[in-house]
This record gives sequence, C-alpha cells and structure tokens, in this order.
Amino acid sequence: MTRPYNFSAGPAAMPEAVLRTAAAEMLDWHGSGMGVMEMSHRGKEFISIYEQAEADLRELLAVPANFKILFMQGGGLAENAIVPLNLSSAGTVDFVLTGSWSQKSAKEAQRYCSPQVAASAQDSGFTSLPDPATWQLSSGARYLHLCSNETIHGVEFHTLPDLQALGSDAPLVIDFSSHVLSRPVDWNRVGLAFGGAQKNVGPAGVTLVVVREDLLGHALPACPSAFDYKTVADNGSMYNTPPTYAIYMAGLTFQWLKAQGGVAEMERRNIAKAELLYGYLDASSFYVNKVAKHCRSRMNVPFFLRDESRNDAFLAGAKARGLLQLKGHKSVGGMRASIYNAMPLEGVQALVDYLRDFEKEQA
Ligand SMILES: *Cc1c(COP(=O)(O)O)cnc(C)c1O
Repeated sequence: MTRPYNFSAGPAAMPEAVLRTAAAEMLDWHGSGMGVMEMSHRGKEFISIYEQAEADLRELLAVPANFKILFMQGGGLAENAIVPLNLSSAGTVDFVLTGSWSQKSAKEAQRYCSPQVAASAQDSGFTSLPDPATWQLSSGARYLHLCSNETIHGVEFHTLPDLQALGSDAPLVIDFSSHVLSRPVDWNRVGLAFGGAQKNVGPAGVTLVVVREDLLGHALPACPSAFDYKTVADNGSMYNTPPTYAIYMAGLTFQWLKAQGGVAEMERRNIAKAELLYGYLDASSFYVNKVAKHCRSRMNVPFFLRDESRNDAFLAGAKARGLLQLKGHKSVGGMRASIYNAMPLEGVQALVDYLRDFEKEQA
C-alpha cells in the first residue's frame, strides 16, 4: 500500500524508510533488549546513537571544527529567547523582518536586549526580501538575526548575506528551522544557526543549534543553566536529559540523507520539485503565488485559488486523491504545499496533476 502524500508544514512527513526502521527497532534496538525510549541517556547504547547522529550532521552540513553542535529542547520559539540570553549582552541586536517568524523573534528579544529593525519587507506583505545593500546595520550590534526560510510566507534567502562585506562584524544568526539540510550552509557567513527538527529533520522535541565557539560563555546571569550554550556544550548536550527518541529519529534521517547522496543531492532535488510546482502555478490563470521570483521558498509554497469560494472543494478533492494537509496558514489563507526533503518528486507531480484536473473540472 502506498501512503498518501503529506504536505504538512510541520510537524511534517518523514521519509518512509526512516519510519519503517524505527518501527522495526521499536521493541529491541540492535539486540540490546531495549527500545530507544527505554535507554539511559548515559548508557553506551544511547551514547553511540548520539555520537553517530552528531557526526552525521556535522558531515552532512560540513560544520567546521570550531562550531559546536547542540541538541536542545524548546523549539524555535524558545531559541528566540535563548539566543538573546546568550549572545546579546543586553545590548543592541539587528533584525531583518521578512515574515511571521522573524517578527516573533524580534518581539521576544525585547525582553532581553534592544532589537533594532535593520530592514523590513512588511510593506510588500512579506512577498519579497529587502536587498542587503539597503539594510541599516547598527554599529556595535551584538548580532544580526534573520529567518533564512519563512515557513508561513514562503520566502527564502537563496544566499545568505555577507555581513562583513556590508561593513559589519556582527555575527549572523539564522533561524533555519524549515529548510535545514535542504541545501548547504555557508558557515563563513554564519555565527549561529538554530532550527526545530519537526519540519525537515524528525519529530518535534529536539532543536538543532550550531554555534561558533567564540560565541559561547557570554550568557546573561538570568539565563537558565539548561539554556546556557556553554553549559550545554560542555556537557555534550546532556546537562539535562536530552530528547533521546527525537535525537534517534533525527539520526535515522541523517543516515537516510547520506544514503540519498547528501545535502547537495537534496538541493538538486528540491530545486527540481520547486521548479515543477512554481512553473505550473505561474502558467495557470486559475492559481496564483504572490512571492517575488528571486526569493521563493523551495520548501513552503503558499498559493491561492483566484476564486476563493472553491477552497473547500479544492481541499476535499485533494484529500480524496491522497494529497493531505494543503490548507494554508490561517494568517495568510489560501493553500500551502510544504515540500521538504521527505517529499519525492512524484508527490509534487501528483499535486500538479491534481491542480490541473481540478482547474479543468471547475472550468
Ligand atoms: C516552526 C518554526 C518555528 C517554531 O518552532 P517551534 O518548535 O514551534 O518553537 C520557528 N521558526 C521557524 C522558521 C519555523 O518554521
């Protein structure tokens, strides 16, 4: 039996092979007599799972030796507080506002530091990205925060800005929750990256943080110990009990990604998937995507029926064809197809076939 194609924005579809492995290992992991959920995080079995996951993530993303990889909890929203608690020294921080997620980050940061808006795409309804050459960078900013893929508005930075070339020595902090591992990361331009796992990596419950070593050890006194990056790093992400099962599942995804050919291959496939879907939407007069072409997300594709009275019929027909969770985010409306790494090209082709059939049938 083939499973339906699931276009959820998150928690999102996982590779079927990963789910099958997890199911097979549920009661007895590698002859240990224990399921992964039942293991001590300090035992040799889980330590081996953890070390493999970390090494695979480092290899997949080509994380340099002077960056730490942390497996934390609290998701992207907790990182909106944890980053300023660790990096801001209660000073000035620049934000680039490109959609809901970066807006939320700037708002939360007000509790800990002085956020400044370096640039905002709000006037475009968050359908475009402000050109880095126009950003107003604060002198002495402790860091600059941006969301490299805005999950709700469907806007992605296809290249990260080079802050040094813009005359700033502030580290760049990126929220890469919804496109981590969909393409390589240029670590020369990044000081810290964080992302919840539940979009493109694994189940909810684990948050990936990749942080340059010189940024550790500057937490504000009020920072909870469990959220002090240095404490987390010094304890190998085991200062408190880590989300062991979520780390295991993420680790299975890393293995799967390596078997597929790694992140460069995923980027190639993701570009092909995005071109297929955007190409159809642009050629049709029945559907519309409003995001500027230079910054369309390869992961999250919001689109609208020009006649919105047909939305319910569209969603019901999609479900009947095995195309699930296409409803758009409530703040934007319309539809959204999230086409993360786990979505094969065939799934996007099935969606495009449905878009075409629905359009014909309604004509
Ligand atoms: C989903 C998402 C978040 C929030 O993650 P939580 O795990 O719910 O805290 C933050 N940023 C981006 C870009 C997201 O897509």
